[in-house]
Amino acid sequence: MKNIIFVAPPAAGKGTLANLLKGKYHIPHISTGDILRSEIEKGGKYAEYIKEQINLGKLVSDDIIFELLTERLSQSDCDNGYILDGFPRNLKQAEAYDEILKKLNKDIGYVIVLDIDKEIAKKRIIGRLNCSNCGAVYNYMFEEMKPKKEGICDVCNNLLKRRDDDNEETFNKRYETYLEQTEPIIKYYEDKGVLYRINSGKGKEYAFTEIEKIINQKELNSD
Ligand code: ATP
Ligand code: MG
Repeated sequence: MKNIIFVAPPAAGKGTLANLLKGKYHIPHISTGDILRSEIEKGGKYAEYIKEQINLGKLVSDDIIFELLTERLSQSDCDNGYILDGFPRNLKQAEAYDEILKKLNKDIGYVIVLDIDKEIAKKRIIGRLNCSNCGAVYNYMFEEMKPKKEGICDVCNNLLKRRDDDNEETFNKRYETYLEQTEPIIKYYEDKGVLYRINSGKGKEYAFTEIEKIINQKELNSD
């Protein structure tokens, strides 16, 4: 299985789709946002700085990201492919990622852009709740995404939490950061011929089917 990278604005469904892919293809979901949030929880050496940047909707410094990510990608569960969510987020990271891949002897795989309307994304952010244990995502702004029991995960019965940066003000900053810093990497990957785009505003089942189509086509052609 090839690696998959998601490039998308906040709340486009990276985490949700990565979870579905993980269930089907049994490859790990590596989210730099989750890695950073766990650094904050563990009280790691950069915890205070990371927390501040996240709550401002700004990017965490490239050096910290490279350190944490290289460590994660070197683990053996990444040998048969992985889903990368939240990285690269600017051109410098995209270039550094090419170097990391060379060093670890890995291929870029598929870069998938999830397109979403800003207003839909905002609604998703405002109503979003995440399971603190299994990473499942819920949303009380959408009837079909509410948990069965309020505040409790349907899958593993753990408590649901709201992220500190899931509020309208930080969302607007995160969206701006995406347009300014992350969107330029789309062209970088387009030029490499590894870019795919799907509409992520029509719900997770639709988006997941579109991703499966991309994977099936490619894996068949490479046989
Ligand atoms: P989503 O809403 O789909 O979870 P997001 O992009 O808003 O997407 P995360 O990917 O969880 O959220 O990232 C949250 C924050 O963590 C970012 O706003 C940023 O501060 C920091 N961060 C995550 N990945 C990176 C990265 N590759 N480089 C720099 N900062 C990052
Ligand atoms: Mg996420």
